[in-house]
Amino acid sequence: MDYRSIESSDSSRNKCAACYRQFNRKEHLVDHMRTSFHSVHEPMCGVCKKRCRSFESLREHLIGPLPKVECAKIFSTRGCNICLTILDSPYTLRMHRGACQLPRPNGLISSMASMKIYDNMKIDNGRERTTPSVVALACKMVGGGNDGTLDICARVCLTDEHDNIMFQTYVKPHIPVTNYRFETTGVRPENIRDAMPLKQVQRKIQDFLCNGEPVWKIRSRGGKARILVGHGLDHDLDCLGMEYPALMIRDTAKYPPLMKTSKLSNSLKYLTHTYLGFEIQTGIQDPYEDCVSTMKLYMRMRSQNHKLEHYPLASDPQNRNNFAQWREAELEKMSPDDLLVVSRSDYYCWCLDLKGYA
Ligand SMILES: [Zn+2]
Ligand SMILES: [Zn+2]
Ligand SMILES: [Zn+2]
Ligand SMILES: [Zn+2]
Repeated sequence: MDYRSIESSDSSRNKCAACYRQFNRKEHLVDHMRTSFHSVHEPMCGVCKKRCRSFESLREHLIGPLPKVECAKIFSTRGCNICLTILDSPYTLRMHRGACQLPRPNGLISSMASMKIYDNMKIDNGRERTTPSVVALACKMVGGGNDGTLDICARVCLTDEHDNIMFQTYVKPHIPVTNYRFETTGVRPENIRDAMPLKQVQRKIQDFLCNGEPVWKIRSRGGKARILVGHGLDHDLDCLGMEYPALMIRDTAKYPPLMKTSKLSNSLKYLTHTYLGFEIQTGIQDPYEDCVSTMKLYMRMRSQNHKLEHYPLASDPQNRNNFAQWREAELEKMSPDDLLVVSRSDYYCWCLDLKGYA
């Protein structure tokens, strides 16, 4: 008789301490831990402490369509349906909701800003900051090419951590516009005809982001360059003809806890409605609103209170051997909790920006 099969009939021994999946054999649990990259940075159910890959899966766990019954019951009386935390009582929930659900950003500022060039970008020469400064970028595109489907940047906006506009302008296109997409962009030919040329916009934004640091030097953390926040920044930067180091980019379309699945992003409109509690992009779209939304999402994610670890990433050299094949025998003897203790995240959690890791 196989001795191991008797041992593994004690099912709780092989239950993942993070997602509670059950395995028949310890080696399968070890395999699961090796590939799932569970960590303290994953969204967690405030009732059963289960860890989820994303806020979307935590939402399913708590709200449905097929929620975990015990958790859903508690959540329905004192859970916040925006940030998904559980409060002590229905009373503290009411207090909390007032702060958690944000009002729509001030429409007056944005409509004023949309009229003219706004240029408040300064390079700071001052002393080193403990946390790098953060700016949000958003663009609005008009159409080019024969069928009007080629995206051309026509408006750009850059805001700081306090939603102040640092830079905002219409952009003069470098190729002919064949579809102004007026219903969503609000852009008319006269807005961009004599606007700031793309090259100039590019240079201004690049200088501001690098903040006096040569681009080649922005390879390590702790420099003067600014963190860039946005939604789908690859596309925005592409349309602006710019490059910026991945290390300095915080993209709400690519941050695993905010994604729909491991491959699919949520729209910024959906994220803003669901995780901030206000509406954007309801008619003519203002890039200022997109900046404010992505910045607020970033700030919420950055302020998550996760335990500090010395080497938080699975890719940190110190963690290279945590689940190495040659440690298999040792790993199979460890408890599910101990396996979780050595497991590390495969993505950079934004809470690390505040912990001085960046
Ligand atoms: Zn698991
Ligand atoms: Zn974290
Ligand atoms: Zn739960
Ligand atoms: Zn909340």
